[in-house]
Amino acid sequence: MSEATLYCANHPNVETLLRCNRCGKPICMKCAVRTPVGYRCEECIRGQQTVFYTATKTHKAAGSMVALVLGLLLGVVAYFVGQLSWLSIFIAPVVGGVVGEAIFRASGRKRARRFDWIGGGLVAVGALLTFLPLYLLFHFPYIWTLLWGLLFVAMAVGTVYARLR
Ligand SMILES: [Zn+2]
Ligand SMILES: [Zn+2]
Repeated sequence: MSEATLYCANHPNVETLLRCNRCGKPICMKCAVRTPVGYRCEECIRGQQTVFYTATKTHKAAGSMVALVLGLLLGVVAYFVGQLSWLSIFIAPVVGGVVGEAIFRASGRKRARRFDWIGGGLVAVGALLTFLPLYLLFHFPYIWTLLWGLLFVAMAVGTVYARLR
């Protein structure tokens, strides 16, 4: 599928690159509302957009598997990013966004009740499974790598959770 030009859902003449990160609707800069978790359309901000739970068991299984695998990778990333101290704060939302998007696509872009918790939880579990052993083996007892690494994981998981809501 090629990336066709998007037009704002409210202004059919305005080209845009933005989509609401909750419902996926194309929106222009005028319509976009900036939130801590990204750009959203006004309907989603007002909570009037109905979220449909259409994911099947297969969708959920695929999404869960990708969440766990990417979680394991995220733990490795956290180990290295944790050594960059405060820079991890800026990298976490980017990495979390990519992971969240990958999980959302793996589950067929379908949503499921409580899958935000399941997806975010699996990423967190996977991340700790690789981050903690790496830290204990190679960086213990240097506490800052642990703290920044855990903060990185927490922020990335928060972003994943927001994406899957
Ligand atoms: Zn929306
Ligand atoms: Zn618009």
